[in-house]
Amino acid sequence: MPIRLLSEDVAARIAAGEVVERPASVVKELLENSLDAGATEIQVETREGGKSLLRVQDNGAGIPANDVELAFRRHATSKIETAEDLQRIATLGFRGEALASIASVSRITCTTRHREEMVGTRLRIEGGAVIARSPNGRAPGTDMHIQDLFYNVPARRKFLQTEKTERRHIDSFLTRYAIAYPEVAFQVVHDGREILRTAGGGSVAEALISVYGLDLGGSLLAIPPALTHDTPIKVSGFVGPTTVHRANRGYITLFINGRWIQDLRTTYAIIQAYHTLLPVNRYPVAFVLLEMPPEDVDVNVHPAKTEVRFRDGDTVFRAVQRAVRSAVIEMAPVTATWQPPNSPEAVTTGDAPHPPKIGLATLKPAPLFSPETQGTPPRTASGQNAAPLLSRDPGAETVGTLAASGDAPPQIPPLRVLGQASTMFIVAEGPDGLYLIDQHAAHERVLYERLLGDWMQGEVQAQALLDPVSVTLPADEAAQLESQLDTLARLGLQVESFGPNTFLVRSTPALLGAISPQALLADIAATGEEQRSPVREGLEARTVRRICKRVAIKAGQVLAREEMEQLVHELERCRNPRTCPHGRPTLLKLSVEQLASQFERT
Ligand code: ADP
Ligand code: MG
Repeated sequence: MPIRLLSEDVAARIAAGEVVERPASVVKELLENSLDAGATEIQVETREGGKSLLRVQDNGAGIPANDVELAFRRHATSKIETAEDLQRIATLGFRGEALASIASVSRITCTTRHREEMVGTRLRIEGGAVIARSPNGRAPGTDMHIQDLFYNVPARRKFLQTEKTERRHIDSFLTRYAIAYPEVAFQVVHDGREILRTAGGGSVAEALISVYGLDLGGSLLAIPPALTHDTPIKVSGFVGPTTVHRANRGYITLFINGRWIQDLRTTYAIIQAYHTLLPVNRYPVAFVLLEMPPEDVDVNVHPAKTEVRFRDGDTVFRAVQRAVRSAVIEMAPVTATWQPPNSPEAVTTGDAPHPPKIGLATLKPAPLFSPETQGTPPRTASGQNAAPLLSRDPGAETVGTLAASGDAPPQIPPLRVLGQASTMFIVAEGPDGLYLIDQHAAHERVLYERLLGDWMQGEVQAQALLDPVSVTLPADEAAQLESQLDTLARLGLQVESFGPNTFLVRSTPALLGAISPQALLADIAATGEEQRSPVREGLEARTVRRICKRVAIKAGQVLAREEMEQLVHELERCRNPRTCPHGRPTLLKLSVEQLASQFERT
């Protein structure tokens, strides 16, 4: 075949494939146009998951009568003019291809009236060709009525999923925009049924409640606004408390300059902010809105405009992580009533898998793990590549978080130790039931908070060794350790180079008592390797986590009553006593009601 230029029609359909993948992408483009037009009321209507009808009406600026046909031409836009404008895009649209793309694969009726014109226009377009035009008397604003999407692209139509699935895609998009644009009143109707309505009252909190319901929406914590006042990046929005978590990342939403964005790294920053606060493999609920100068973020990455590139991704990462972390920690409500970790409320609002619903079976000698494996808990995703962002910067994990734990409201009630079970668990009684405490996990948590708290206040006590111990490591580990000596010194571990691959340990953190320097150094050298993770995080925090894991009492260790009482008492004083620093639960509760029902007393 000779080379030839494709006809406009074929070129348009190829291009349309990139912009219009499914009904939800049409809704997205139309909604963006309505928002760009300054609408304060937007109604969306669909039939059959958008296959037969998609309609978006707004009270925005409208399209001038002379421009209506032009609006449906490829690369026709009122939003940018020059190539420089691409450097700082302040509107949702800018490519000038959505209407052209949609028009080429459907039958559109566009009814619009510009704000400053007396008469509106109605235009009918089928498969990209204008078939009728007439004056129209509607109120200012625009009504895009799209029928028979993909009627002329059977391959695409065939690949559409069930109505329900397509509707879900549409909803997941619309609900997010309804929250992010609380000043706009949204109404969404599917097959004649209203599924969403927001008041347009201007508060994100209110919109969140309209969308997520009072239970979830009302439990979210506001990101404090003042935090980012000194940077050009503003982070706002709402995040879930640590009792609320989900099995996947689907409840993490990120808006950048008014646009819903999928960005792995920023999402990771949000997840990171919850590090050690959520059980492993659980994800937070978060609705995070980022505002930054448009020239610092490039949205012209993909036709669907759902990806961005940041000029300074690290700063964005830190700003988000810091803001979310402070919301989770500072804004958590100071509740007088303590909520047990697996009370029915915690399970419903938290959707929590940890601790599992327990019955008496849990009380049998648990063959879950042997003492050996328990001593070294499996490495988890969160434990491996993550540590909280810890710096002396009070905005990050605050000094108060860890050091002033004594003043914080207790997260668990006072417990009375009853004994030890399976040389693994401490059995204790609280005001409302029986508690099983994992001795290793609990001790890890206690040590982690104390050592890190001391470090943050610059008060780590070192204990000098009577005889310095020399430790030789494999070359690669030695190199790692070499680069961490300063950090270790701040943590009370004085280590000096002492010949090739050999080190002399002069002191250890007093808090940890007698520990084996050999094993500790090997562990710490391994910490350095994690630095390859994309997260910039405090080496101290990672190191402390390692140390605590190594030195915490193990399963299989018999504990005296006083030791158990001290451990439990210290756990009560922890800021986040319910998980170990790797996110595993430290305690399970059997409420009196649960016990009574197991004994069939109810
Ligand atoms: P873009 O949004 O990238 O500019 P579109 O193809 O989506 O491209 O729209 C083309 C133009 O049509 C827009 O630039 C805008 O001027 C106009 N337009 C589209 N939808 C609306 C609307 N709902 N209200 C007012 N103007 C609109
Ligand atoms: Mg557009």
